[in-house]
Order: sequence, then C-alpha cells, then structure tokens
Amino acid sequence: MWIRGKIFLNNEVIDGCVNFDRKIKEIRKDCRPDIDIPQGKIIFPGSIDMHVHVRGMNLSYKEDVRTATSEAAYGGVTVVVDMPNTVPYINTAERVQERLREFANFSRTDYGIYSGVTSDERVDKLPIAGYKVFPEDLEKPELQFVLSSKRLKILHPELPLSVKQFRNLREIWQEIASISLVSGRFHITHITNYEDLIKAKELGFTTDFTPHHLLLEEIKGDCLTKVNPPIRDLTERRKLLRALFEADAVASDHAPHTLQEKMQPYELCPPGIAAVSFTTPFIYSLVKKGVLSLSRAVDLVSKNPAKILGINAGEIKEGNVADFTVIDFEKDWRYHTQYSKVVETPFDEYSLDVSIYMTIVEGKVAYDGYEVYPIRGMNLFENS
Ligand SMILES: [Zn+2]
Repeated sequence: MWIRGKIFLNNEVIDGCVNFDRKIKEIRKDCRPDIDIPQGKIIFPGSIDMHVHVRGMNLSYKEDVRTATSEAAYGGVTVVVDMPNTVPYINTAERVQERLREFANFSRTDYGIYSGVTSDERVDKLPIAGYKVFPEDLEKPELQFVLSSKRLKILHPELPLSVKQFRNLREIWQEIASISLVSGRFHITHITNYEDLIKAKELGFTTDFTPHHLLLEEIKGDCLTKVNPPIRDLTERRKLLRALFEADAVASDHAPHTLQEKMQPYELCPPGIAAVSFTTPFIYSLVKKGVLSLSRAVDLVSKNPAKILGINAGEIKEGNVADFTVIDFEKDWRYHTQYSKVVETPFDEYSLDVSIYMTIVEGKVAYDGYEVYPIRGMNLFENS
C-alpha cells in the first residue's frame, strides 16, 4: 500500500510517498498512491501513549479494551501502554497472559502492558512493556525483584505516605522524595511540577507530563478534576510549562470511571480523567499556535516514547511498524470523547486548532476522520 502527501521525515516535512504492509517498506519521491492525502495535512509517525488505564476485565463497566483503543485511534494514538491496576491486578504470569489475550482479541491499536510489582519471576520472561511502580509499592519487599529486572520501570512519583493522607497534604516534596528512592531504568510519569523534572534529570531518568497537569485548575469538591498526583496551583502550573520543552514525553493517564462513581462525595470519588484522545490534537495545536516546533511535538508524542519503551515505532523509517497519524492543520474543533464509555471530561469544549484526519495502525486505516474500524492491534513487545 502507498500513501502520498506531506510527510514528516528526518525532522522536516517533504512531499513524498511511503510504501508499507504491516511495516514501512520504502520511502520515495513519487508513486501511484492508494491513499492520497490532500493539502493542509501532514503524515506523522503514530502517536504513542505510555500511560493509559484501559480497564477491561472486571472493570469493563468503566471502560474496556475495545472502547479505550477506539477512543485512542479517534485521537490519533496508534500505541497504548496499559497500567496493571485493573481487577484482578496484573502481577502474575497467568494474569499477564490473560491480559495479553484480552488485548489480542479486542485492541484496535497497537499496545503493550505493564505488570504490577511482583515476586513472580516468570513475569519477567513474558512480552511485557515493563513494570508500574505505585507509591505503596515503594515499601513492598517484592520491589527488590523488580528493581533487579532490566525492563523499564514507570514510577508514579509519590510516597506511600501521600496515598494515606488527605488530598491537601499531598505535597510536592513527597513527589521529589519518591524519585530519590529508586534507581536503574526508570521513567517518571505524570510529573506535576518543574522541580520533579529537574530531580529526575539529575538522576538520569526520563519523564512525561499530562495535559491536565498543565491546563486544568483543580476545582475544590469537583471530582472531574480530581487526579493523583493532584493538579498544582497556578504558579506551579506556569513553571511546569517548561516541561513542554524539557520533558521527554507527554502521556494522557487516561483513567475512566463511571458518572455515578464521579458523583460520589469528593473524598470518596475515584481520581482520574479519561482523555486519551485529547493529547495528540492538543500538542499539534501548540505547533499551529507557534509554541512548539514540529520536531519537538513529534519528540513528545512519538519519537521519545518509542525510544523509552524500546520499540520499532515513533519514526517514519524503513522497518518500523506502519503506524501513522495524519493531522489536519486547517480544521479546528471542540474536544469531546467519542468512543470511550466516559462522556464527560474537564476538557469538554476545549478549543483545538487541528484535528485528526486519519489514523493508520499496522498498515490499516483505523480511523478515517469519521469512523473507527475494527482492525487488529499487535503487542509491540512480542520480541522484547
Ligand atoms: Zn495512571
């Protein structure tokens, strides 16, 4: 299959063609295209979201693999990497395999899964993306086994103490302190403040931030903006804008809950925002506004996440998986979810300057600007 149009290649935009089946086979100047991308749109490497709570299994009432990955494709995301805190918790070889089967059956994007912290050594030999370390894991004996693994570890940067405290006591110093407690191949996810970024870099770790920690105000008593770690005050959020230029990646931390759950009293309602489809159009909107360069945007959504995860994706080059995100720089829109079971997010009606024209996963059109199609995503960690 040939696609022709403006292509983001080696940090510039060229007119050209890409030939692919499941993988990218050839890039050249001209061709007879099967898909011809009109003016005003650019073909980028597919976006990779390193931090997604797909739910499924016994939490399918909140979201499932089909709805979450459909929402991802609609938002230009071609790879999701899933967090293990579902029910049951993913931290044994049997559960990892069960989880991988669920993805193989229902995922409409490429994927990977993280295991929870475990002492089950068989898990390390399975095709996982790595391990998720939650704050409470920092005091578990099993952490030693995970620290000794060569696989990637993703840290939720807070202390066991933070989890037990009332929300107004979850302070920034607790995040920074947690980063000092780990070593090895670590990635620090959803940093909420600039000091975290500095500390992580000093210790040689990579980082990501979420759009919500940059853009949203935590409304007291409103569960829609309740997330962990909490959204910081305006001063901290302004300082965090530097993450756009200095962090390695951006991630959504897509964390769906039902409306009934979100309507419980504030101290009881579960934290999390479900907006896997927001990140990519938001980042490319910043390009259109002149805030970010094209190559910086691609670094954040595609190239760096692929590097951190160690997968053959994130760049348009021969041999990489044929995942593409085509952005329409001439069509603005107001954000809303489309396929997620969550219909209300704090980003609703947020004005975006670009839209997703097409999402291609494994060489097939997964979203064409109108509809998401039931294509079959693959585990990109199969040979890891
Ligand atoms: Zn999360």
